[in-house]
Amino acid sequence: MIKVSKFGGSSVADASQFKKVKEIVLADPERKFVVVSAAGKRHKEDNKVTDLLLLVNAHIEYGVDCSALLATIEQRFMDIALELGLSFDVPGEFMRLVEGIEGRTPEYIVSRGEWFTGRLMAEYLGIPFVDAADVVMFHHDGTVDMERTQTKLREAVVHTGGTFLLPGFYGATVDGQIKLFKRGGGDITGAILARCLDAGLYENWTDVSGFLAADPRIIENPRAIHRITFEEMRELSYMGASVLQEEAIFPVREVNIPIQIKNTNEPDEFGTIIRETANEHLREHLITGIAGKKDFVGIYVQRAHMSNEIGCIRRALSILERYDVSVEHIPTGVDSFAIVVNGADVKDTIYAIVADMQRDIRPDSINVLPGLALISVVGRNMSRRAGTSGQIFGALGEAGINIRMITQSSQEISIILGVQNEDFEKAIHVIYDRFGDAVVISQQ
Ligand code: ASP
Repeated sequence: MIKVSKFGGSSVADASQFKKVKEIVLADPERKFVVVSAAGKRHKEDNKVTDLLLLVNAHIEYGVDCSALLATIEQRFMDIALELGLSFDVPGEFMRLVEGIEGRTPEYIVSRGEWFTGRLMAEYLGIPFVDAADVVMFHHDGTVDMERTQTKLREAVVHTGGTFLLPGFYGATVDGQIKLFKRGGGDITGAILARCLDAGLYENWTDVSGFLAADPRIIENPRAIHRITFEEMRELSYMGASVLQEEAIFPVREVNIPIQIKNTNEPDEFGTIIRETANEHLREHLITGIAGKKDFVGIYVQRAHMSNEIGCIRRALSILERYDVSVEHIPTGVDSFAIVVNGADVKDTIYAIVADMQRDIRPDSINVLPGLALISVVGRNMSRRAGTSGQIFGALGEAGINIRMITQSSQEISIILGVQNEDFEKAIHVIYDRFGDAVVISQQ
């Protein structure tokens, strides 16, 4: 089986992290294709090389001298090369970069973080370096040209004898300019490589042991999620439990390659495997995970006999569209509906939105209720199982928590509850304490 192993910024932050990476790669002969991010933070107050390079661009743009900044970046790579005894000519390559820097595009400059890190890691691992600018190809419209990329990557496999290191985060446009993915985009490079090589597994090495069943800032020592479906992960990430770049999921999901999140600092921990279907055991957890966010706003609209009219909700939605506000949920009643939106999205426009709704809908009343927290209880094993939501609501009721809104996703894999901001942590505790470890006999 081919494995693609992607190491994030903290996994390659300094020489001691490089050593861990090498041990991990050598421990499994199937780990033949390695992707790296630019060196990240070595400790909490440290800076990521990518951030420093973005700062270099800002200096150049405003004509401020950045030689000290460039020296700091160079030193980071020098430290790694020296401590690991690498022969790669960091000062020489850096001089080349600095000499021509005024004529370089900002994207080129930022991409050098992954380039230098990749050069050093390739030498340290003793495998060839393949420059992403030669193999990851973009269309004119900025999307990845999968076909050309696949051809180039497969050629690279042949040229290198079947093992190489690829720097993440960038590729090249049709006219040969460096182009970056969005921040955190090394994950996307890894996914593209896994897909183009028909890998059996995409390993994503980071500094956490995968997904946890709840936020550790709220629940002490929550259980790790070993297996999760792509769909469940989308639900949890959307509500804040984010580990992986969202866009990294699609290239591998489409061809059903599983992703395993692993911790470079705790390589023996299982981590989380994300795949299309995840029930491998007869006994499964009822709830895969709980996530949530605070500070949503509910706009409650009431109008007598609304149920006989056509177009009220559409008018309300088009107002929000005009203000570029995305809608989270729309609970409805016979003569009323509510629209739940992200508080930050309407911070400056809520009065104007309400005024437009007064004018276009002529409701009997509109109430704006801020301070709504949404909690998503996610679990593939909840679907078609009678009584789950009843039990959750019952537990919250017993704890004296008022539920202000309820929705269930169409595939029944998540139940979303709205509570007051003040009840957020307590509600998560109640749900986790009662159901976090509950086990059911799997139906598949
Ligand atoms: N180095 C880039 C960033 O910091 C990309 C990555 O780490 O995946 O965003």
